[in-house]
Amino acid sequence: MTDCIFCKIIAKQIPAERVYEDDKVVVFKDIHPKARVHLLVIPTQHIQSLAHTSETEATLLAHMLLTVANIAKEQGLNNGFRTLINTGVAGGQEVDHLHFHLLGGGPAAKT
Ligand code: 5GP
Ligand code: ZN
Repeated sequence: MTDCIFCKIIAKQIPAERVYEDDKVVVFKDIHPKARVHLLVIPTQHIQSLAHTSETEATLLAHMLLTVANIAKEQGLNNGFRTLINTGVAGGQEVDHLHFHLLGGGPAAKT
């Protein structure tokens, strides 16, 4: 997907503050943080949204969720965190590459 902004982040064609990556996922800081910790977990493979997944992606989806839990722990979010998945236009999805938001640690610092 050459015109996908998250594919460009994966390919390092545009910069992002990465906190974790492996062969299946990349985790980076949201450019407009809504919490002190606001990260996006995305698959390295282009998948449009959660509505575009099936049993084929079951292992990948589980890996994405486990990554959320691991990174939350790594970020010290021991009192809890939010995980958000916007899907489609009516679901408020702005970037058409599947992503899980990980939010926690209180309000974002004022910029
Ligand atoms: P959505 O509304 O699709 O669930 O969330 C998309 C998120 O991606 C938004 O929170 C937005 O701030 C973030 N975002 C959009 N473009 C970029 C970008 O170029 N870099 C980073 N790091 N985050 C982005
Ligand atoms: Zn993409």
